[in-house]
Amino acid sequence: MEKLLIEKRELVTVIESPVDFISVDHEKCVGCKNCVIICGMNLWKIRDGKAVLETDYKKFCTECASCYTVCDYDAIKFTFPPGGYGIVYQRG
Ligand code: SF4
Ligand code: SF4
Repeated sequence: MEKLLIEKRELVTVIESPVDFISVDHEKCVGCKNCVIICGMNLWKIRDGKAVLETDYKKFCTECASCYTVCDYDAIKFTFPPGGYGIVYQRG
């Protein structure tokens, strides 16, 4: 069966927040990779054993809060962007 490739970052349009709404505390991060695995937009990487969020994450983040939810070490802080900013789904 032919595999359907989805370019996830083209599924949403983001009205980019002027302020950060996700941060990671490297003192608490143990590099477990849960955030890397769960992020549907591939916005997390592990660098030197610690989670790092893409610098332009505000352009692509779908505000699902999954990274925050799966972090068992309370290393990720998540708040929704201020009103008037956020995602607009193109399909679905
Ligand atoms: S889920 Fe939390 S502890 Fe695990 S790599 Fe991500 S930030 Fe670090
Ligand atoms: S909120 Fe969702 S899309 Fe945004 S960085 Fe976290 S897991 Fe990825």
